[in-house]
Amino acid sequence: MNTDRVRVRFAPSPTGHLHLGNVRTALFNWLYARRHGGTFILRLEDTDAARSTQESVLSVLEDLRWMGLEWDEGPEAGGEFGPYRQTERYGLYTAHLNRLLEAGKAYPCFCSQEDLERGRAEARAAGRTYIYPGTCRHLTAEQREARRGEGIRPAVRLHVKPQTVSFTDVVRGPVSIHSQTFGDWILSRPDGSPTYNFAVVIDDALMAVTHVIRGEDHLSNTPKQVVLYEALGLPIPRFAHLSMILGPDGGKLSKRHGDVSLDAFRARGYLPEAMVNGLALLGWSDSEGQEILTREELVQRFDLERINKSAAVFDEGKLRHLNAAHLKAYSDEQVEAMIRPHLVQAGRLPAGPLAPEVQSWAVSLAGLLRQRIDLLTEAVPASDPVFLFDPATMDEAARAGLAEPDAVRVLRAFAEEAGRMDLSVPGAYRELVMGLKARLKVKGKALFHPIRLGVTAADSGPDLERLVPILASGSRLALPTPVLGPAERTRRVLALLE
Ligand code: GLU
Repeated sequence: MNTDRVRVRFAPSPTGHLHLGNVRTALFNWLYARRHGGTFILRLEDTDAARSTQESVLSVLEDLRWMGLEWDEGPEAGGEFGPYRQTERYGLYTAHLNRLLEAGKAYPCFCSQEDLERGRAEARAAGRTYIYPGTCRHLTAEQREARRGEGIRPAVRLHVKPQTVSFTDVVRGPVSIHSQTFGDWILSRPDGSPTYNFAVVIDDALMAVTHVIRGEDHLSNTPKQVVLYEALGLPIPRFAHLSMILGPDGGKLSKRHGDVSLDAFRARGYLPEAMVNGLALLGWSDSEGQEILTREELVQRFDLERINKSAAVFDEGKLRHLNAAHLKAYSDEQVEAMIRPHLVQAGRLPAGPLAPEVQSWAVSLAGLLRQRIDLLTEAVPASDPVFLFDPATMDEAARAGLAEPDAVRVLRAFAEEAGRMDLSVPGAYRELVMGLKARLKVKGKALFHPIRLGVTAADSGPDLERLVPILASGSRLALPTPVLGPAERTRRVLALLE
């Protein structure tokens, strides 16, 4: 195979937000194209006028861009094989429909909905699957004219000869099915609109798609599509059907498992790199078993041969873990930019451009918070020890700590020194503590625990050597949620005891 010519496509129906299943399909196509220096096409299957919306189109484009899955041909990108929206391709469908009609490979069907429904009901009652019996297949030209004369607008069906339809799926291996399991299927409806199976074949053929990589839910459509390629005398692409994605309970991943739109994961603070990595592992695995993979590594290693045919189980815990791993690759400045929207929304940082001193403080804050989060949104609760301070809410254990023999002595001395020194200076906190240790002759937990209680009004929390300078410098800034400095905090804890 000339691998330079790999052409794959992602063909969503813009009827809502993309969910993890769609996005995985897009990703596998994109990875395959990039791996082989091929072309990744985006095609919008928007023939369902009632459910397709421009808003959904925009959200599909935005989601793909956020994931970094840029398309080489498609809406906005253009390309030689357009248009890339099915509603703009009706002329092409009609032309091919006419070719099939003229060649006697398709025929108009005048059966009414009632006739078809009666047939379906009979089949149901007899426990059979309904197959169109071919009623209109052999109407004469006069009979067809007569029906048209009655004002009946026909559907068009493909004339499918009884045969075994076979193809080899890249993931599932050989597939064979008898054409009588589906019969003469509909190419276009009485209103002239193409069916999915018809439009998709015309589009994939005219867009010179070499590999159709899509969800397993389309596997049963593929034999119908294969007979149409044959009827049109067009080359058949290779097919790769991706196994289902299951939720942790073993059922198909769906709304039952919470919001599974990509949008929801972005809002929860996942990084695109983690989504790319996590979705790649849903059904594909690296030959060396590496789990944390960058986009570049995935492009180098991805291939269809390592796609698993058994269902993949989505595990959000694993995705969180990947997110934390990918977060490490960023500098504090980059993490600051990523968590800022969340802190602004929580009213902790001002909206709009930051003054230079606030900006550099926010970067140190990000350096502290990033140690304590997996997801970007978690930066808000992780920043509680910086922005919230209320000794009145101290729990029993913390209060008990204050009753320890040296606690009050340590706290008083700390408050006094902290009021005198500039604790925003690196190393100043350590110097202060060492001084107290020598002066008060208190060490270890008896020294550090009261200081922690004084500074945070809590038993545990961030490393004080990092937290104290942030509190000290933050207390000098005008922030929407003011930060109290370490001296003032300790004084308030002491006040509680008096
Ligand atoms: N519009 C179809 C879907 O979203 C595309 C199926 C295909 O890739 O052929 O499921």
